[in-house]
Amino acid sequence: MFETLKKATLDKIFVLMAEYAADPRTDKIDLGVGVYKDDTGLTPIMNSVRKAEQRIHDTAMTKTYMGVVGNKGFSAAVVDLALGGIVDLKRVRTVNGAGGTGALSILMNVLSRARPGGRIFISDPSWPNHWPMAELVGLKPHYYPYFDPRTRRVDFPAMMKMIDSLTTDDIVLLHGCCHNPTGANLAREQWDQVAECLRRTGAFPLVDLAYLGFGDGLEEDAYGVRKVVSSVPESMVAFSASKNFGLYRERAGVAIAIGKNETDAEIVSSQMQNVIRATISQTPDHGAEIVRVILEDRELRAEWQAELTAMRERMKRLRVKLAEAIRQRSNSKDFDFIAEHSGMFSLLGLPPAVVERLKVKDGVYMINDSRINVAGIPEDRVGELADYLLAAVR
Ligand code: PMP
Repeated sequence: MFETLKKATLDKIFVLMAEYAADPRTDKIDLGVGVYKDDTGLTPIMNSVRKAEQRIHDTAMTKTYMGVVGNKGFSAAVVDLALGGIVDLKRVRTVNGAGGTGALSILMNVLSRARPGGRIFISDPSWPNHWPMAELVGLKPHYYPYFDPRTRRVDFPAMMKMIDSLTTDDIVLLHGCCHNPTGANLAREQWDQVAECLRRTGAFPLVDLAYLGFGDGLEEDAYGVRKVVSSVPESMVAFSASKNFGLYRERAGVAIAIGKNETDAEIVSSQMQNVIRATISQTPDHGAEIVRVILEDRELRAEWQAELTAMRERMKRLRVKLAEAIRQRSNSKDFDFIAEHSGMFSLLGLPPAVVERLKVKDGVYMINDSRINVAGIPEDRVGELADYLLAAVR
């Protein structure tokens, strides 16, 4: 049986994580893996999460099945958080997914049933899992232009030109905020134009919302998704609680479908449930229940928001510090984009050979496309990191 298989390529991030772990240097710097880290290099459990977990531990009476749609309180709270009441809930249906990936997978499966072999347009570049996920369900992935490696900003005219040429048979995957891997995001006026273009062409938006609150704030980061969802008759949103609640391994996410009307919403709901039943039958609930408890409790919610704000502000501070350190040393604005990007990542635009040299010579690890996780920047070694980066590009 297995001899008929070819070895599959694994996501490069896991290879890099193993290399980092095996590197004996004590002063190595990990800018690779895509998880938030605090100033001790730890991915912490948030206090609000600990408290919610304790509460669940003390009060839960059963671990029986939740049902195929999952934790409805979690989904409702997430819809409110992400969409903020901009759409009539009669048109909205949700199921829980195993993390943002699980939510995306359910939505893509349903989309491939609606448009067998249909085209899905993904930003160039994108989170490396988007493409294989689309292929796995039988959709045909294509890129739309997104990042201009010269300016390290969004090539908006090129992006719009492509999206404007799409039809009602096409799907467009958009990063709701905090673009991964580039860190370059659409401005509000640009979201307005994208939403208007989707309304006009009828191309179907699937919004990946994996970092709500990591960019400029919970409300600010929801601008794009709300604009798109309120501009078009039908859309989908995949929400992940992995980053903003620090629940990575718990696999908490919500697949949200917004139909033209209640009848369509019911149909898409039955399809989402059918996909879940035939794949994992029930979604894990522990993380979902933690988020529900936090969002439904005024005090815990306030504590979570304060913790999220602290994480966001730390990442912003690190961006500014690194950009400033590079500017001071080089007397050029070439790396100012690091401070202008938002979210957890920035794509530095360095060639693979430079990325390799930084790893081998200086012990600075980043993804080979030159994506850095800004949360991994050691605050007390920003100057040293700036020196390494400048020496590497000279
Ligand atoms: N979308 C994007 C853009 C991501 O970066 C990630 C996580 N790296 C996800 C979705 C999925 O996250 P998870 O499945 O861990 O919730």
